[in-house]
Amino acid sequence: MANNDDNLLKKIVAHAKEYGFVFPSSEIYDGLSAAYDYGQNGVQLKNNLKEYWWKAMVQMNEEIVGIDASIFMHPTTWKASGHVDAFNDPLIDNKDSKKRYRADVLIEDYIAKIEGKINKEVAKATKRFGDDFDKDQFIATNPNVLRNKEKIVSINERMKKGLESGDLESIRQLIIDLEIADPISGSKNWTEVRQFNLMFSTEMGSVADGANTIYLRPETAQGIFVNYLNVQKTGRMRIPFGIAQIGKAFRNEIIARQFIFRMREFEQMEMQFFVKPGEEMEWYNKWKNTRINWHKALGLGEENYRFHDHLNLAHYANAACDIEFNFPMGFKELEGIHSRTDFDLKAHEEHSGKKLQFFDPVENKNYVPYVVETSIGLDRLFLAVLSSAYTEEKLEDGSERVVLRIPAALAPNKVAILPLTKKDGLPEKAREIIDELKYDFTCFYEEKDAIGKRYRRQDAIGTPYCVTVDHQTLEDNTVTIRDRDNMLQERISISDLGTIIGQKVDIKHLLKQLN
Ligand code: ATP
Repeated sequence: MANNDDNLLKKIVAHAKEYGFVFPSSEIYDGLSAAYDYGQNGVQLKNNLKEYWWKAMVQMNEEIVGIDASIFMHPTTWKASGHVDAFNDPLIDNKDSKKRYRADVLIEDYIAKIEGKINKEVAKATKRFGDDFDKDQFIATNPNVLRNKEKIVSINERMKKGLESGDLESIRQLIIDLEIADPISGSKNWTEVRQFNLMFSTEMGSVADGANTIYLRPETAQGIFVNYLNVQKTGRMRIPFGIAQIGKAFRNEIIARQFIFRMREFEQMEMQFFVKPGEEMEWYNKWKNTRINWHKALGLGEENYRFHDHLNLAHYANAACDIEFNFPMGFKELEGIHSRTDFDLKAHEEHSGKKLQFFDPVENKNYVPYVVETSIGLDRLFLAVLSSAYTEEKLEDGSERVVLRIPAALAPNKVAILPLTKKDGLPEKAREIIDELKYDFTCFYEEKDAIGKRYRRQDAIGTPYCVTVDHQTLEDNTVTIRDRDNMLQERISISDLGTIIGQKVDIKHLLKQLN
C-alpha cells in the first residue's frame, strides 16, 4: 500500500459503495457532507470489529466492565470537562473563495510542503552519490536542508505560542507572512481567525417549558467518568479497574474529509482505566503495549503501525501518544492513549459537589483515582481494514480480480452457499446446508449467474469460503469448498463443513494471539 495514494482512496470509496459497505448519507438528496451510512456488508464488518474489541477488552479482562451511557448528558458535564470553554479549533475564511479552513491545518500543510522539499533534496543526493551517500551527514550539513529545517522550527514555535496564548491575530499574521494562499482559488485575501467550538448543541424540552441547551457528546469518555462511582460501587470494583464503552460521538469538524476518516458523526470505542495515583506511568506503558498487540494480531502488516508520542501535552495529561496507521493518505491517528491524571474526576467532583473517590483498604484512605484511557475510532479502524484488505490481482489466466483480504473472523459473510444450477433439487440441498450452518456463521445464498461470476462477487466482499453444491452432492453428500485467498478448491463431506469453516473464521483465533 503506497502513501498518499489518492487513487487508492478513490477506488476504496467506489468499491465500498458498489459492494454495500458504505453509502453517502441521504444520497437521494445528494448526500450530507461528512456523514455516511454503513450498508449490508459494512454493518457486519463494523459489528465484527466491535466484537473483537469488546471481547478483548471486557470478556477477557476480569477487571474491565462495560457500560452504555446516553448520548445526551447534563450540560454541566461539558463545563466540567472543559469542552464548553476549550474544545475549539481556530478557523479562517477566504474572502474571495468563501471557503473555510482550519488555520492550524493551513500552516501544517505549509510545513508539510517544506518537508517535501527536504525529502526531494535528500532523494536527489541519494541518486547522485549512490552507495557512498551518508544520509544523516547530508541532512546535518546541507545548507538548503538546514535552512528549511530552521524555517520549520520557527513556524512551529510561532504557531504554538499563538495557539497556546489564544493570540489569534498572531496566527493570522503567520499565515500572511508565509504568503499562504487558498489551496483552491490561490487567493490570499483572509478574514481574521476565530475560535470555533466543535460541539453540536440542541434544545431539550419544549421552548415553552424553558428550554435547556444541551450538547451531543463529543466523546464517550465523560459518560464513563460520571458513572465511575455507580460502577465501582455496584460492581464492587477495586482499583485498578476499567470501564469500556462503544458509542457515537459528534464533532462539528470545520473540514471533514477523507471519507470515513473524519466525520461529524462517528463511533468511538473507549476504555478508561482507573489506577492508584503514582502508578499511572506503569499502566500507560502497559496499555500502549496491549493496544499495539491487539492491532498487530489483525495481520494488516506490522509495518503499517507506528507510535507518535505527543510532545505538546494537554494541560490535564502527563503522557499521551497516538497509534498511527498507514492509511492511503499516509500515516494518521487511529487510536489515542492518554494518561489523564485525576483531571476529569476532580473536575466532576467540583462541579457536582459529589465525592468521586476510592477507599483503598490497604492504605486505609480515600483518593481520586488517576485515569489511563485508550480511545479508538471505529470508523477509522474500518477504513484501516478496508484499505489494507483491498487487493487487485492479475491471475495466471490473464484475467483480473478484486479481492478483499479481510481477516476471516471479521468478514461480513463467512461462507457463501452456491447451488451450481437453479434446478434438479440443488437449491433445496443448498438451503439444507445453510439451515445447519446459520447458527454459527453468517451465510450467503446465491443461485443467479455463472459460478465464476458468483465467486468474483464473494471475493469482492471478502467472503473466506464459497461452497458449491452440484449434482454429485445429491449422490454422496460432498461439496466443493473454495478458499478466497488462494482460490483452491477441495471436495469435502458436508458433515466436515462446520469444523473447516470454524477453524478459519472463529474470532477466538484472533483473541488467542493476545494472551
Ligand atoms: P484528530 O487529531 O484526528 O482530530 P483527535 O486527537 O481529536 O483526532 P481524540 O479526541 O483523541 O481524537 O479521539 C479518539 C479517537 O476518535 C481518534 O483516535 C479517532 O480514531 C477518532 N476520531 C476523532 N475524531 C474523529 C472524526 N471526526 N471522525 C472519525 N473518527 C474520529
